[in-house]
Amino acid sequence: MSKMINEPGGQVPVVAEADLVVVGGGPAGISAAVAGARNGLSVVLLERYAYLGGLASGGMVLVLDDMSNGDEISVRGVCGEMIDRMTRMGLCVVPPEADRFSDDTVFRRWARWGLYDFHSHTKPQPICYAAAFDPDGFKRASNDMIADAGVTLRLHSWFSRTIVEDGVAKGVICESKAGRQAVLGKVVIDATGDLDVAASAGAPFSQGSFIVTTVFRLGNVDFDKAERFEYEEPEAFAVIDREAKRIMGGSWERWWLKTPLPGVAWCNCPHMAGLDGLSVEDMTQADFRGRVRIEALVTLVREKMPGFKDCFVVDVAPQLGVRQSRMLEGEYVMTKNDVSTRRHFADTVARGRDYYYPYRSFIPKHVGQLLVAGRHYSATPAAQRISREIPPCMAMGEATGVAAALALESNVGVDKVDISALQARLRAQGADPGDQPAANAGFSEAAE
Ligand SMILES: Cc1cc2nc3c(=O)[nH]c(=O)nc-3n(C[C@H](O)[C@H](O)[C@H](O)COP(=O)(O)OP(=O)(O)OC[C@H]3O[C@@H](n4cnc5c(N)ncnc54)[C@H](O)[C@@H]3O)c2cc1C
Repeated sequence: MSKMINEPGGQVPVVAEADLVVVGGGPAGISAAVAGARNGLSVVLLERYAYLGGLASGGMVLVLDDMSNGDEISVRGVCGEMIDRMTRMGLCVVPPEADRFSDDTVFRRWARWGLYDFHSHTKPQPICYAAAFDPDGFKRASNDMIADAGVTLRLHSWFSRTIVEDGVAKGVICESKAGRQAVLGKVVIDATGDLDVAASAGAPFSQGSFIVTTVFRLGNVDFDKAERFEYEEPEAFAVIDREAKRIMGGSWERWWLKTPLPGVAWCNCPHMAGLDGLSVEDMTQADFRGRVRIEALVTLVREKMPGFKDCFVVDVAPQLGVRQSRMLEGEYVMTKNDVSTRRHFADTVARGRDYYYPYRSFIPKHVGQLLVAGRHYSATPAAQRISREIPPCMAMGEATGVAAALALESNVGVDKVDISALQARLRAQGADPGDQPAANAGFSEAAE
């Protein structure tokens, strides 16, 4: 065991009190806070960094996907509003409905935007409802939505401990430049992505891991030239592309994608395995290893890949790309089979692409008045890998924010919320809670 010291206790000032405290200002936390405030709650949203958006902005994860089930849009609500706001800023691109089908010409038009159905076995894959956006657009749209909803935002606030009394969450302690600060609430939502709040409160969880990425952007890329080379000289292209992917330690099918900014490419790589997203040492290593790979890649493509001769690194995402760490072991644990067979549940309150989230997967065991939303929801590691995209995380956040309001309105615990009232409220507010299963939904629990 490593050497330990005793930390002195002491009094901590209460700097805010609210109906709802949301910890983590990423996609899930923003949605939870906005939904809670719109449903009449006083809400405090806490975020460690200097901006909102989490992995979608600081992590520079720049494609919103997993929000359509064939022709049907399966994630709406706050996520849809975010897309509309960023589109109005000129910082978001969505393929028009007329292009949402499978055909060689239309695929070439959208493939390098990454706006196609990755899960389809049809070749070429169909273009679908998905969005490529700018990270600063996501930050600004988040600020606007939070301000319009009347949420009290406290940035620069690192969560450090959950205040639990008699098994019930009462608020949190944060570290800040001003020292330790307490924020109290009647309901707490953990949207940290790493389950910091629920773990601190003593809720059971499991530990997963997946590849880690230092996402980056390249500027001054000649997209036309790059695409002409790709399609007109496929064999020569394949050789250089393979080498680029080798340097990156693997990547998805396309290692660079277009963004709404002219000549700026989004690179969702390198892929680094065996790193723990909760370990300071591993995360420090990731930064060094990622930058070495990026430099090697830039050297290669400048020299060999048409369209990249004069490219440069615009930025490496300030937030490390951790896909999976702690995951809740809540009232229901989603399995890979549940996701891949599109299992529908009687208490479904949020949807992803074609899969469904039961409300029980947001409820921790043994801790009252605490909900969990986002990539650390209650799932097995294998299930989480295929159900953790940004839009469904926003849908989870929205569902928990509305659930918190319903619980306080009805004076019941968050684990006793009336599910049909929650589904109805979500639907009335423009979200799709998945209460009406699509034709391709799997085994429905309601029919059990
Ligand atoms: C490299 C990479 C590529 C991906 N590609 C895609 C993609 O193409 N499309 C897609 O839709 N999804 C993609 N994903 C998945 C997606 O980005 C995440 O699953 C999603 O952002 C999770 O949202 P969240 O709100 O649950 O968590 P996060 O986005 O992680 O947000 C958590 C927030 O909580 C804050 N926080 C954490 N701990 C504390 C603390 N102690 N105190 C205060 N604040 C805290 C963080 O700063 C952050 O703002 C990708 C993920 C990665 C890492």
